Amino acid sequence: MENNKKNIFDLTHEELKAALNEMKQQPFRAKQLCDWIYKKLIFDPEQMLNLSKNLRETVSNGFSWYLPEIEHVAHSKSDNSYKFLLKTNDGKLIESIFMTDKGRSTICVSCMIGCPLRCKFCATGSQIGFVRMLTPAEIAGQVLVTLRYMKEKGLAQRVSSIVFMGMGEPLINKEAVKKSIYLLTHPECFALSPSRISVSTAGFGPGIAAFIEKTGVRLAVSLHFPTNKLRSQYMPVNKKFPLEDLIAELKKVKLKKRDYILIEYLLLGGINDSIRHAQQLQKLISNLKVKVNLIPYNPTETFPAEASSEEVINNFARYLHKKGIFTSVRRSKGLDVDGGCGQFALKKQ
Ligand code: SF4
Repeated sequence: MENNKKNIFDLTHEELKAALNEMKQQPFRAKQLCDWIYKKLIFDPEQMLNLSKNLRETVSNGFSWYLPEIEHVAHSKSDNSYKFLLKTNDGKLIESIFMTDKGRSTICVSCMIGCPLRCKFCATGSQIGFVRMLTPAEIAGQVLVTLRYMKEKGLAQRVSSIVFMGMGEPLINKEAVKKSIYLLTHPECFALSPSRISVSTAGFGPGIAAFIEKTGVRLAVSLHFPTNKLRSQYMPVNKKFPLEDLIAELKKVKLKKRDYILIEYLLLGGINDSIRHAQQLQKLISNLKVKVNLIPYNPTETFPAEASSEEVINNFARYLHKKGIFTSVRRSKGLDVDGGCGQFALKKQ
């Protein structure tokens, strides 16, 4: 039965070799298959022309070849990002974004359908709720299917970096995320450097430092609020893992020489965007090697906060700069096509 078969896109190079061995196939066939899948982006064994007909039949019947399918693509003219709505084999929708900027391209992937953390400002958490975890194939598969689309349309040739900033909290789906990172970085698979991958957490638990050490990827933290009172109000995860525990965990993260932790801070008009909040934030992160990324909020139907004025944004950024904290202001990608996390899927659902 199809359901009992191993999904080939879930298998590491080593696991693929072992599975082929069980099918009485030579180990070098694993490299051939990985070349077709990860280098040539061919996902149908019938098109793998340097494999014998017999082998094509064996792998076609021996494995499941399931990847999420493209349901809808929306192009944002304002920043040239492509928002993908992908359908899983149980009919659920996930979002990925392909962003291009000055010749570099980044894919933002989801690691869950929905999210259990229920951040109030996020359409995924507040409206969709938690549906299920994604498998490694469904996570790494977002990179494969979106890049193939971009290549086929002549819109991009390769991907420079991957960010885990779509639907879901990566550290709750830790094992699947780790395996998808393994698939994306393994030299025989997608062969991307771990330093080109960023994982963003809402601050879930004490395993952050160990996760970064194990995977070698870069860390982003959705901090957003500088006090426990405010943060717990908008991010319920803070009640379980308050700021003092999160900061203590971040101090344990071993950073390479030129690396830093990216602190993401969503500026919500009148809620967390005053100079007093900037002072509290600076005090909180003063002993960490960080870069702060300010994200001005764009009002949505799902969370009726106001946008901060340009003056407020600039004052906030200037205060941090003066205190010696490297700070940038992100102009969100894809917002004219519901680029905020979860909004696109929510609308389609
Ligand atoms: S912001 Fe991230 S962690 Fe929070 S509910 Fe949304 S997807 Fe989950």
